[in-house]
Amino acid sequence: MKIYKFLIIAFCFFNSFAQNSKPKLVVGIVVDQMRYDYLTRFEARFSDNGFKKLMYNGFNCKNHHFNYMPTYTGPGHASIFTGTTPENHGIIANNWFDKFKNESVYCVQDNSVNPLGTASNKERMSPHRMLSTTFGDVNRLHTQFKGKTIGISIKDRGAILPAGHSANHAFWFRGEKEGAWVSSTYYSNELPKWVIDFNAKKLIGKYLKEWNTLYPIASYTSSGTDDNIYEHGFKGKEKTTFPYDLKALQEQNSGFSILKSTPYGNSIVTDFAVEAIKNEELGKDSITDVLTVSYSSTDYVGHNFGVNSVELEDTYLRLDKELARLLKSLDKQVGKGEYTVFLTADHGAVHVPQFLKDNKIPAYYVDKESFKEGIDTFLQTTFKDEKILKNISNQQLFLDYKRIKEAKLSLDEVTKALQHYLTQQPNMQYVFTRSELVKRNMTNIVGKLVQNGFHQRSSGDIAYVLTPATISYSKTGSTHGSPQAYDTHVPLLFYGNGIKKGKTFKKTQVNDIAPTVSALLGISAPNATTGKILNFVIED
Ligand code: ZN
Ligand code: ZN
Repeated sequence: MKIYKFLIIAFCFFNSFAQNSKPKLVVGIVVDQMRYDYLTRFEARFSDNGFKKLMYNGFNCKNHHFNYMPTYTGPGHASIFTGTTPENHGIIANNWFDKFKNESVYCVQDNSVNPLGTASNKERMSPHRMLSTTFGDVNRLHTQFKGKTIGISIKDRGAILPAGHSANHAFWFRGEKEGAWVSSTYYSNELPKWVIDFNAKKLIGKYLKEWNTLYPIASYTSSGTDDNIYEHGFKGKEKTTFPYDLKALQEQNSGFSILKSTPYGNSIVTDFAVEAIKNEELGKDSITDVLTVSYSSTDYVGHNFGVNSVELEDTYLRLDKELARLLKSLDKQVGKGEYTVFLTADHGAVHVPQFLKDNKIPAYYVDKESFKEGIDTFLQTTFKDEKILKNISNQQLFLDYKRIKEAKLSLDEVTKALQHYLTQQPNMQYVFTRSELVKRNMTNIVGKLVQNGFHQRSSGDIAYVLTPATISYSKTGSTHGSPQAYDTHVPLLFYGNGIKKGKTFKKTQVNDIAPTVSALLGISAPNATTGKILNFVIED
């Protein structure tokens, strides 16, 4: 009897110990440009081991949104991992106008560091423009820098921003003639030996092959017809139809860079992530490590072929297999139940507006050049000076304060006149001024999203929002950047150690992810977090 009691106590003790043990590895997966409805649109043909494993054995937040604009890759990746929005982390776009230096800057460009793994000066990158910490940074501090953080993506910004400032490494893919994984001296003096060896094997070359559909093309019933007028395609192939001979097309499409715009770009990422887990010994001890993996080819394919294309459907059916491969490797290398995964996206995408128009749904194109010419003419007729407008970028206007002062004009008057002019333009939904945005009392829902994306120091003087499905883009392919639901609604799936099984339609937001992961790890939230802990996804 006594032994029986002891066994029960011992069982309870070990059971509670097992449940309270932290994940050995957190894997944050971002699928670039993945709309929420891709989970439901393609679900019938997903395997049980990829997306569906996370959807049905983890927690599915079905009403998850970005709560700011512009919904671009740089801000998206920064927001997911910092638990805040551009107003605090400062990554206000991919490229933006630095009004203090009078030049356009790229979100991760850093000329004070040198590239690793390539001689190209194009790869001088670091997270120095991101103003707040990621949960990986906090985990580094919490573990006395014993818990590692590694970031991996085809895109530099998709690897660098998620991993944060104190990351051990961030690796991204360099295409063109090289086809290699590269990094920067920001992280270390040289590439780890395993990366040099991996690049030397030249395994990437095997993906320069034919891209045909995974299943018979007639079975792709969740997309439009393969041959249509809404796709951009590759140079050197007139029709945007399967199959694509990548070997033959690479010459005219920047060599290895062509792989980025095919599902094989995602295969390359999985290959490299599996190697990184093994060689960096991620999740091997009880101190939590962090791995961030961003699959970017989905974005390139979306831009090139559009939301409704067979190419996009095929890319997701293949990504499902890549996910399964990554999860299998985590089971093997870290152990079942020993790691926690979340999967989300950095923004969604709009259906090709021309396709919507042809199907009676309101959609428009705004020509950038004539939009700017209109503003110039207005400024010339009203204030006799069109140069008081310094720059238009990311749906914001930057004014020249010095010139306005010299011309003895009132900044307030110029701003209000421009606001009025813009509100009277076709396809204009809202126009907000800097003084409205810095007051921080916005009750208008779209205004709030603009405000959350507005950095008080570095953003512009007037911000505008175009009507739904209005873009400045070519008439082929899809894009993103707006505060509309098609750009903000993305998947959020949690799975693994410490995560409940379940689903919710409760609204969750991008800045909730990092505080939730931090809570799971028992660490502080990143330093500028504005999100909430999604306690309903965490096991008691
Ligand atoms: Zn993106
Ligand atoms: Zn994009």
